[in-house]
Amino acid sequence: MFIVDEISAPRLGLTGLQADLPEQDRAIQESAHRFAKEVMRPIGEQLDKLAPQEVIATGSPLWSYLEQIRDAGIVDLEALASMDPAQKTRLLPLLFEELGWGDSGLAIFSLATSFPAYAAYLSGDPELVERFGGSIGSWVGTQPDRGSDMVDWDTTEIYPGTRHGKGNLLARVDGDAVILNGQTAAWVSGAPVAQCGLVYCQCDYGDGVYNERGGLNLIAMLVPFDEGGVSKGKPLDKIGQRPLPQGEIFFDEVKVPKKYVLTDRDSTSPNFFGVLTFANMEMGFTFCGVARAALEHALDYVHERRQGGIELIQHQSMKLRIFDMWRRVEAARAMAHRAAQYNYSANGPHLLASVTSKTLVTQTAFDVASEAVQIFGGNGLSKEYPVEKLMRDARAAMIEDGENTILSLKGATWLSKGYQAGR
Ligand SMILES: Cc1cc2nc3c(=O)[nH]c(=O)nc-3n(C[C@H](O)[C@H](O)[C@H](O)COP(=O)(O)OP(=O)(O)OC[C@H]3O[C@@H](n4cnc5c(N)ncnc54)[C@H](O)[C@@H]3O)c2cc1C
Repeated sequence: MFIVDEISAPRLGLTGLQADLPEQDRAIQESAHRFAKEVMRPIGEQLDKLAPQEVIATGSPLWSYLEQIRDAGIVDLEALASMDPAQKTRLLPLLFEELGWGDSGLAIFSLATSFPAYAAYLSGDPELVERFGGSIGSWVGTQPDRGSDMVDWDTTEIYPGTRHGKGNLLARVDGDAVILNGQTAAWVSGAPVAQCGLVYCQCDYGDGVYNERGGLNLIAMLVPFDEGGVSKGKPLDKIGQRPLPQGEIFFDEVKVPKKYVLTDRDSTSPNFFGVLTFANMEMGFTFCGVARAALEHALDYVHERRQGGIELIQHQSMKLRIFDMWRRVEAARAMAHRAAQYNYSANGPHLLASVTSKTLVTQTAFDVASEAVQIFGGNGLSKEYPVEKLMRDARAAMIEDGENTILSLKGATWLSKGYQAGR
């Protein structure tokens, strides 16, 4: 049992039921929080109200955000790559929750645009680091006719007796180069401003594009966008995460040197598994921040707004509603941290851990933000108040990095495989 001398209010940290953090971790959390509060929130609010073209225009606050996050050294790729697994387990959830709390669209922008640079660092090849290490990047996976099919790249969820469509982007090996033709989906994060991409697409290695499972042979490569043959579509207009610019990229006979190829036919499947596992884990951290932001706004509001003769929080039904939000946020965060612990342990990484977290946390963020809108009453629907934006941002997350249903199907398949392997 616990021996308690004096009963007092619970001591809560930035992330609720937060145990004592080591000094260095607390310093990182606090500086990320300051940056999220002073830089990300105000810029995120401004960008949310702009048209997509204005978001990327010269002089837009997006560029000031990029400069400030670079100067603050908060997403330092070399430092992240050099952390040991224990540090990553502790620090990545803390860091990305704060950034998500600041603005999820900007948080995803920073991460997605650093994917090519991060892949270059991980390759250990100085030439790739030199070429891609300092560029604004993008993560190219989906195509107009190939959304969930890309997320189900290994065809675990394909309908029996069928095969995937050919999609809209095709690489072909040609001597010392790979030639790229076609287009991406309009959903590629950072595309309108990206200078390069970490591209995953179908590839004809000389024997057609299909594999024996009805899926497509894949290739992963780093592609510069400044060497001719690349053009961009109009930036996409969408309901949530509006500070995150997105759009199509078109490739016309783009010649990519073979030294920029990261993985080919056999090694791309495990490589994509690894990237999706990281991305889904990170989505879990970021959207804990969105869920927490909605809870905090609701907590403030119910202690200020009076109806029925008293502050809203004094009504018993409201207490239950607030407590339910709190409990959901705590449970989602516990899941996100658990995914990090598993992925950086000797048993991990595995997509099962990450999709369990991503689907739970993004659904929680949406449910909690939606309840916050309800608690704000009519004010919740007004753009004068912050909660409707959080609800829109969380809504987008349920489709981003894999739509939650298809991710859940893949999770179920892996759960069954794990169960059968352990029998
Ligand atoms: C905010 C945001 C950021 C994004 N960033 C990127 C990015 O950086 N790079 C990138 O490449 N893409 C990105 N995407 C694209 C995203 O990955 C896709 O939108 C997503 O995978 C869904 O694909 P889709 O939109 O084509 O929907 P579809 O695949 O057409 O799905 C439509 C519906 O059909 C269902 N469905 C599909 N297949 C099956 C199946 N086999 N069994 C049962 N149901 C099925 C789905 O569950 C869904 O409800 C982003 C999307 C968003 C919203």
